[in-house]
Amino acid sequence: MADIICFGDLLIDFVPTQTGTGLIDAPAFKKAPGGAAANVAVGLARLGVASAFMGKVGNDPFGHFLAQTLEAEGVDIRPLRFDPTARTSLAFVSLREDGEREFLFYRENSADQNFRVSEIDKAAIEAARIFHFDSISLAAERARGTTLAAADIAADAGLTISYDVNLRPALWADLDAARPTILAGLRRASIVKLSEEELAFLAANGDLERACQQLWHPAMKLLIVTRGAEGCTVVTERCVSEITSIAVTPVDTTGAGDGFVAGLLQGLVGGDAYLEDDGALRELCRFANAVGALTTTERGAIPALPRRDAVLAALARAE
Ligand code: ATP
Repeated sequence: MADIICFGDLLIDFVPTQTGTGLIDAPAFKKAPGGAAANVAVGLARLGVASAFMGKVGNDPFGHFLAQTLEAEGVDIRPLRFDPTARTSLAFVSLREDGEREFLFYRENSADQNFRVSEIDKAAIEAARIFHFDSISLAAERARGTTLAAADIAADAGLTISYDVNLRPALWADLDAARPTILAGLRRASIVKLSEEELAFLAANGDLERACQQLWHPAMKLLIVTRGAEGCTVVTERCVSEITSIAVTPVDTTGAGDGFVAGLLQGLVGGDAYLEDDGALRELCRFANAVGALTTTERGAIPALPRRDAVLAALARAE
């Protein structure tokens, strides 16, 4: 059984064969496995942690391609469901010249949106130590109920709950109405990761520290704001620290945040020792920064997610 179970998104990303264009000008697209929660599950497996993926794809060739990809990476896919009546979600993703990503989702009535509470593998959750999820599966009504029910099963079983905000504006018909739903996910978690833009979206204006205070809730143990090439800001009850990342030449930033989460959770899977020692927590975040940084050095998230020895070598070179 897996130590960390990742709940959420597993889909086909169609990525342009040529970089630096928007979706309008992209000449052709290549299919690639994607989905934030799935990236975290693969990232963990590459770092040597037993991970599982819980979600739903269509019982179609794309769904089977995704399942085979995760299985080949050593991710436990027993909690993955196949829908005979709905198709696997698709996203067209481009990386423009200015580094901004553009998403076009094809997930109307897709299999992941049809994930029912009755299909949750309760035993797989209860056997794990950490339950990780994000807001992507909260955007569709049925999957929202299933996501929150799975998180509640995890909380009742005493798992640590980890949440990546992962705001995807294109998935929400009304962004203002999205805020309370995204916060409902965040309030279930003791470990939260979000970007500076997501922090600005969720918290009223103010400096980073005040915004973090606004999101803090009694069960929270760690709030991390990722800041791209600059690294991350780590907030605990005791302190706020800035942790710089290593220098890399980024090729494609897709999945950097998911790599970061995998780097972080591989340390937290052993218990709360890192959370109780500020120095150890800083070291863990340096490791997570390096995983995120290395994830940017190849095209696509899954191909770039590093193994532990590559992360340690990059950290040693940076010293
Ligand atoms: P998403 O993958 O959803 O865009 P995100 O916005 O959280 O997630 P980033 O902040 O871009 O992702 O990256 C996550 C982490 O990866 C950063 O905190 C940093 O540690 C590392 N990282 C990302 N880009 C770079 C870079 N160019 N150089 C060094 N480290 C980077």
